[in-house]
Amino acid sequence: MKQTKYIFVTGGVVSSLGKGIAASSIGLLLKSRGFRVTIQKFDPYINVDPGTMNPFQHGEVYVTDDGAETDLDLGHYERYLDVSMSKLNNTTTGQVYNEVITKERRGDYLGATVQVVPHITDEIKRRMTALGETGDYDIIITEIGGTVGDIESLPFLEAMRQLVFKLGKPNALNIHLTLVPFIRSSGELKTKPTQHSVKTLLEIGVQPDILLCRSEHPLDHDLRAKIALFSNVAEDSVFEARDVPSIYEVPIVFGREKIDETILRKLHLPIRRLNMQGWTAFVSRVVHPQRNVRIALCGKYVQLHDAYKSISEAFVHAGAANNARVELVWIDAEDVQKHGPGQYMKNISGLLVAPGFGSRGVEGKISAIQYVREKHIPFFGICLGMQCAVIEYARHVCKLRDANSTEFNKKTRHNVIDLMEDQRGVETKGATMRLGSYPCILKKGTNTYRAYREQFIRERHRHRYELNNDFRLTLESKGMVMSGISPDGKLVEMIELSNHPWFIGCQFHPELKSRATKPHPLFRAFVHAALEHQKKHSKH
Ligand code: GLN
Repeated sequence: MKQTKYIFVTGGVVSSLGKGIAASSIGLLLKSRGFRVTIQKFDPYINVDPGTMNPFQHGEVYVTDDGAETDLDLGHYERYLDVSMSKLNNTTTGQVYNEVITKERRGDYLGATVQVVPHITDEIKRRMTALGETGDYDIIITEIGGTVGDIESLPFLEAMRQLVFKLGKPNALNIHLTLVPFIRSSGELKTKPTQHSVKTLLEIGVQPDILLCRSEHPLDHDLRAKIALFSNVAEDSVFEARDVPSIYEVPIVFGREKIDETILRKLHLPIRRLNMQGWTAFVSRVVHPQRNVRIALCGKYVQLHDAYKSISEAFVHAGAANNARVELVWIDAEDVQKHGPGQYMKNISGLLVAPGFGSRGVEGKISAIQYVREKHIPFFGICLGMQCAVIEYARHVCKLRDANSTEFNKKTRHNVIDLMEDQRGVETKGATMRLGSYPCILKKGTNTYRAYREQFIRERHRHRYELNNDFRLTLESKGMVMSGISPDGKLVEMIELSNHPWFIGCQFHPELKSRATKPHPLFRAFVHAALEHQKKHSKH
């Protein structure tokens, strides 16, 4: 078997430098040269997974086909590489300790004192090489979460050091992403933070092979030479990662700098032909859209756009496919609840109601849905968004005035949304929802079917509640169409309205399967419907 090559991506100076985008961009370039690539992320927090964290803290929870609740960077990996991630692509400190402590209790280490080195680092290394051992990949990119110098990420960096040493050159390398800030008052780019960050890495025994320097301005020759001198990195391995308007341009910029060629040379891999045609065409549609369309995104975490990362990216993909830029109008559901939908829904050509948990803002979402349903503005409801659409229809069209979800009102007589059968009796919170990919059968002749153009689909779920079958007939008799059903006929996965131009709700999360060059059919059709609405209304 051929030796799998390992690239480790670390970050220094500050967080939020875009390690995930950098790793994804490098992965895409290598994939586009014909290598089999995957990316994995190691997160330093103690939570076993981000599923129990508030989106305000951590952004969205990204769900894989096999039902893992993971870091949102995995979404970038999938969107760029167009490959599906699994449980193995995301490890947290919580998982590592959980595993080691379980083994200790079982007696696997009988006699030994269990320590960070070697027991914790061994478990980290086992996970770092697990995907490589499948033989499915030529190159594994590992993103280490956090910033060099953080207490929490030390065991990951130590495991990386051991592994890089064991694998040796040319089988492993480290790419260190840093910041070269521009100091406005002196009009200069400063290299000191990068020097310090490399020093910190060197102190723990890791010599970076490539430096990627984020900066607002170009790094001239002298600056590169200075950084190279202080960090033992060859001058031609110091790259600039300049700010660009769209994250999807980063692979193109990296390609221009020939970062991928440098990597392949260092790994002793052949420099095969680069094929980025599809990607370049996509990016030029993103950067030069022919028209603009305003779509409202109504949720309760709208102050932190990362909480809806996959949704906003899915709109970039779907916009490009429609030669349009989707301008998202972020609407706080609680504001709608307080002031009514009218002022927020002006001049929009579509409304998306976001997923969510808990009752805060739900009444605002319901009134926004009533507004667009009555005004025939395209509507797209995802998970809680679909559940709100069902509640709204039951209340205002089926006249079941107290219709609700038992998530928000346990005692309602008209529990049109109710806890799923197999969720009853579930007490613990971590990884206990209905999670991951499930099949669904679509009804022919619906807008849903017209979007997908196929009858059998699979989509990813993350929820505990569902449409209550006791109300299916009542809702159908008033014009709601159950357009997607689980193969056993028991679960309503999608709904739409027959007397509305485009009104679709889904119990799953389509945003998780949208890829840059393969937009999700529902987002694509929704943006199309919004453009149609805009066209019709600008005429009058
Ligand atoms: N809170 C709802 C449920 O658990 C919706 C979940 C979601 O939007 N992801 O079913």
